[in-house]
Amino acid sequence: MNTTIGPGAAGLELSHIRVCARCGQRYDWRKSPSSALKMTYCGSLCERADLGFTLEALLKYEPAAEEEPLAAKA
Ligand SMILES: [Zn+2]
Repeated sequence: MNTTIGPGAAGLELSHIRVCARCGQRYDWRKSPSSALKMTYCGSLCERADLGFTLEALLKYEPAAEEEPLAAKA
């Protein structure tokens, strides 16, 4: 059996192919728009659908309570 996937298949490395944990779709994890879980989900949609949120949103979230008024008490 000699199947040709198409042009550009030569650059397709199987080691970079992952199966999405949610939708089962095969994808190249390097091209996944998901940042933190690109090895697990094919994209942020599946990531958010499975987790209920995106880790990307969590990572960008910085608590505003950084400056505690320790010396403010007099
Ligand atoms: Zn998916």
